[in-house]
Amino acid sequence: MKVEQLFDLSGRTAIVTGGNGGIGLGMAKGLAGAGADIVIAARNAEKTAQAVQEIEALGVRAIGLSVDVTDEAQIRQMVADTVDALGRVDILVNNAGTVVRKTPEQTTTEEWDLVLDVNLRSAFLAAREVYPRMQQQGGGKIINIGSMFSLFGGGGSGAPYSSSKGGVVQLAKSLAVAWAKDNIQANAILPGWFMTTLTSDIPVNQPERYEMISRRIPTGRWGEVEELQGAVIFLSSRASDYITGAVLTVDGGYSVM
Ligand code: NDP
Repeated sequence: MKVEQLFDLSGRTAIVTGGNGGIGLGMAKGLAGAGADIVIAARNAEKTAQAVQEIEALGVRAIGLSVDVTDEAQIRQMVADTVDALGRVDILVNNAGTVVRKTPEQTTTEEWDLVLDVNLRSAFLAAREVYPRMQQQGGGKIINIGSMFSLFGGGGSGAPYSSSKGGVVQLAKSLAVAWAKDNIQANAILPGWFMTTLTSDIPVNQPERYEMISRRIPTGRWGEVEELQGAVIFLSSRASDYITGAVLTVDGGYSVM
């Protein structure tokens, strides 16, 4: 097989939850650039419509779906609509995420539930929903988006966030083991520090923490969302067919410093 074919996603369909901005949109554009048709699944319809336009401009088919990933019925509908509109589902990127930056003793039960539901429960529900389709098609790729807090304690990002991000790694490993027989690979990407709506409050509200984070990154700068494209294309493509249950950091060296 030629190298280009190893990474070619033509004819594949990818769902990216939370794909209407930030890291999700960056990855969705990467997958589109490799030839995949794209489903953007998120709540803000205006942002989703804009993202769909940007992805269509790359020459692939794209649709936007209004989905709150905390709602099981909406996850089911997301997968059904994907198959109706684009015929198949080959790649699921569990990227939708939220954070509540509080100390554990200040965190309410509702905040714990919200973060766990958006970041972890949704990844399980979406994976379970795509499973029969992928199995029927003869394989598929599931990519969970973790974080540096999949590895480290919560610090200023909160206990529910780190608990959920640790959880998505273990979820990927569990799916990897269970579904290897179906030629479904499940892996996790752990992004380092990227300036998005999720993190843009840090320099403002936690300036000392921002300085500390920035000083620690060996590469000397925060990442650009485009710098996640290589990892997500790789884990979505034939090039990674014997890689499952793996954890890939894209962090400018932050986690090994
Ligand atoms: P953004 O805030 O830009 O993106 C979060 C995305 O999740 C949005 O598209 C949002 O869309 C969607 N989302 C949130 N809640 C829901 C929900 N209930 N249902 C459906 N979609 C939802 O932040 P990032 O791009 O930074 O975050 C993307 C992922 O990357 C997250 O999982 C985050 O934890 C992770 N990450 C980010 C890092 C960073 O440095 N930025 C570092 C490591 C990991 P909408 O509001 O329209 O629903």
